Amino acid sequence: MYQVVVVGGGPVGRLAAHLVAGEGLQCAVVDDHPCPDHAVTCTGIVGTNTFRQFALPPTSILGELHAARIFSPSGFTFSVSSSRTMAYLLSREILARDLYRSALEQGVHFYFDFHCLAVKVKNDRVIVVGRSEAGQREALEAQVAIIATGVHSHLTQMLGLGRPSSMLDAAQVEAEMEGLEAGTVEIYLGRGWGAASFAWVVPVPGGRSRIGITTPAVAARHLKGFLASSPIAGRLQRICGEMRSRPIPWEPLSQTYGNRILVAGDAAGQVKPITGGGLYFGFIGAAAAAQTVAEAFRKGDFGAPSLSRYEQRWKSRIGLEISTGAFFRRLASRLTDEDLDALVKACRDDGLARIFLRAQDFDLHSKVVFALLHSPWGHLFRKSFPDK
Ligand SMILES: Cc1cc2nc3c(=O)[nH]c(=O)nc-3n(C[C@H](O)[C@H](O)[C@H](O)COP(=O)(O)OP(=O)(O)OC[C@H]3O[C@@H](n4cnc5c(N)ncnc54)[C@H](O)[C@@H]3O)c2cc1C
Repeated sequence: MYQVVVVGGGPVGRLAAHLVAGEGLQCAVVDDHPCPDHAVTCTGIVGTNTFRQFALPPTSILGELHAARIFSPSGFTFSVSSSRTMAYLLSREILARDLYRSALEQGVHFYFDFHCLAVKVKNDRVIVVGRSEAGQREALEAQVAIIATGVHSHLTQMLGLGRPSSMLDAAQVEAEMEGLEAGTVEIYLGRGWGAASFAWVVPVPGGRSRIGITTPAVAARHLKGFLASSPIAGRLQRICGEMRSRPIPWEPLSQTYGNRILVAGDAAGQVKPITGGGLYFGFIGAAAAAQTVAEAFRKGDFGAPSLSRYEQRWKSRIGLEISTGAFFRRLASRLTDEDLDALVKACRDDGLARIFLRAQDFDLHSKVVFALLHSPWGHLFRKSFPDK
């Protein structure tokens, strides 16, 4: 029997396992992929803080991002740049490999080709029941399970914890295109690309870019429209590989713990609601889970009241950020294209950019939200407050 089983070997599950094993606990990870290396749909942008805070090796960094150019629906533009690195562009595949290796070095056991069908919570243990691709059934026992299965899994629902209720759809493709500026991200705002959405173009080394979109639904269809008829259409030379899409949660589970159970990462809805970035917040969840599990072993208490410390921990770091971001996402989804034009023009001409930059933080967006709402342009958002 293990002390901890992590269900889901994505970045959050791998980091959680590494940290749990670092606490001296015997830990296993189960994942439904056949092997540790596989392609991932993700742009791979994280703030510089993520590497420092979680002591990640820099091997997965493909480049540094210094600037962003924002395009309004009618083509007004505004640029922000910094002499300092604003964020890193990663290879998610290399990050996954680095996290896998560091977990292995801590003594974590990995079980691939293990599709978890159920987590049964007993008085004295959890039983993680799974099946391989070939149909072979397996079961692992542990004192505690950390569920880090991303958005697709029904396990949290089966455990009575529900599923994140608010979802975006996101799609991405890689392409060769002209006119890319190294280190500069392009962001396209407008309802035309899919209601309440934004699209991005991120240069990657070798003359390619990652082009993506988030929309409330059917992102792949909206991305096809963006590639065909947006201002970037004339710059596209060749689409490289398949377009892939995946949902992103933007509000957390109402409860992220239970008897002998913790939920972390996308499965818990630990995501920045404005941008959909889930790596940094998911890693905060992983660290809080490892700390809480270690504490539970010291006390010998794995009941829900004891594990509720987990939710207090991660919420004290990012709870306000998520609720403020979700509130802002709702307001922003009601902005018209004219409002977006006005905001981008105000950034360019009227000093809104200064307000924005003073409050800007790559990972924590609540200060920018409050600054925007209290700025002279706040009325654009306030007029879209939901009716009482
Ligand atoms: C297009 C797109 C672009 C993105 N860009 C960024 C970005 O630039 N920056 C950023 O921070 N975030 C970004 N994200 C979000 C980021 O990819 C996720 O937040 C992150 O992958 C969440 O990690 P996770 O470990 O919680 O879940 P996942 O990465 O989904 O990993 C979950 C793992 O669990 C496995 N699993 C699921 N169910 C089971 C089961 N029943 N049994 C066994 N294994 C199971 C899955 O196969 C998977 O390996 C993007 C997302 C999308 C869709």
